[in-house]
Amino acid sequence: MALTLNETRKTKPDSAPLHAEIIAIGSELLTPNRTDTNSLWLTQQLNSLGITLRQKTIVGDDEQCLEDTLRDALKRTRVILSTGGLGPTEDDITRKVYARVLRRPLVFHPEILDRIRHLFESRGMKMSPNNERQALVPQDAEILPNPNGTAPGILIRNQDQVIAILPGPPREMQPMFTNYVRPVLEPLSGGLRLRQRILRVSGMGESAVDNLIAPVYQRYTNPATTILFNKTDIEVHLTATAPTEAEADRLIDEVAVQVEEKLGENLFAHQGETLEQVVALKLTVKGYTIATAESCTGGLIAARLTDIPGSSKYFLQGAVTYSNEAKTQVLGVPADLIATHGAVSPEVAESMARGIKERSGATIGVGVTGIAGPDGGTTEKPVGLVYIGIADDVGTTHRKLILPGDRERIRWLTSQAALDLVRRRYLL
Ligand code: AMP
Ligand code: MG
Repeated sequence: MALTLNETRKTKPDSAPLHAEIIAIGSELLTPNRTDTNSLWLTQQLNSLGITLRQKTIVGDDEQCLEDTLRDALKRTRVILSTGGLGPTEDDITRKVYARVLRRPLVFHPEILDRIRHLFESRGMKMSPNNERQALVPQDAEILPNPNGTAPGILIRNQDQVIAILPGPPREMQPMFTNYVRPVLEPLSGGLRLRQRILRVSGMGESAVDNLIAPVYQRYTNPATTILFNKTDIEVHLTATAPTEAEADRLIDEVAVQVEEKLGENLFAHQGETLEQVVALKLTVKGYTIATAESCTGGLIAARLTDIPGSSKYFLQGAVTYSNEAKTQVLGVPADLIATHGAVSPEVAESMARGIKERSGATIGVGVTGIAGPDGGTTEKPVGLVYIGIADDVGTTHRKLILPGDRERIRWLTSQAALDLVRRRYLL
């Protein structure tokens, strides 16, 4: 049975902290082909305003599902943001359902249709009659202009609730939120600001990190501390709320300094940076250059190092030398060294590193050889066996790894280990 708004809203305490819900609308978001990214972006925005997300829901283009979801959200949450379903076609049901649930009939706005018609004409196209739908707005709603598309957004204030209905395409949704919704939410959030800092740690497991830093963070509730595993690294998330961003940052600083001291060299990022960003920055600061010779990683280390703008300052050359012949021809690895020790061996890793360093003239040469699998492993040299060679003006060294996981994971872990080796050896 449908409840009216007045009935449902009685259950919601007025003094509760400000929560939001997101409803992502679109059947494509329920397929493996399209991901709901809008809610991630919106959550970050809400959090920065000190607003916590209570629930998010993805619903297909299904009137009943959307109606049920919206009614539930209205019962418990002050801020409701939805994205999608504002297009001109039959499956775009958002306006209709919101109008029905909020009991505000749709009103036709000729000025919206005029704008859409002009938009089509300016592109030399004729507007189809379908677009008339996009000029329908629930009664007593604010129209949010959309300079990047046809469908305007809609903002409805329902007593102390704020309901923003935004278009699906991120390039339309994001500026609309920033320009028209954020300013409405700012004063509601009680002036509290939320800040988060991410510290990244290499070479330690989750529980080791926790054992080390728990005595520090357990003394604080603000910031809240969470430790989580992310692909290869452990992340420490510090989240603080305060009346100003500066004050929240200060609260985080106080804990971060102590946590950082405990983590020592294992900590590689103070502000959520990636390992390649940290390595890139430090190579640049020190004026060092690097070159890579890769076998099992197929250029991944070079790709990560050159992902960063300005990489030509420190990255000189990368060679992908897969075959034995390439290792000999391109890097000068002696054929009999490969014959004696095998392509996956400490000797060949070091020789690859030496070869690329000498040929490129870089400060640091990195050579990587290993067995990424799934085939090619033996008892003596199993899948996941990797050697990383490092060469500089003083000498050559290597590190042996036995890595878990499938091919993709072994390659990623290898690239991470190589970058971390460079960081620890040259960039502390
Ligand atoms: P709509 O407003 O429903 O017509 O959505 C138009 C397009 O926006 C979709 O085809 C998607 O490409 C994109 N889109 C819709 N919802 C989302 C979402 N939650 N996250 C990312 N993209 C979306
Ligand atoms: Mg859609």
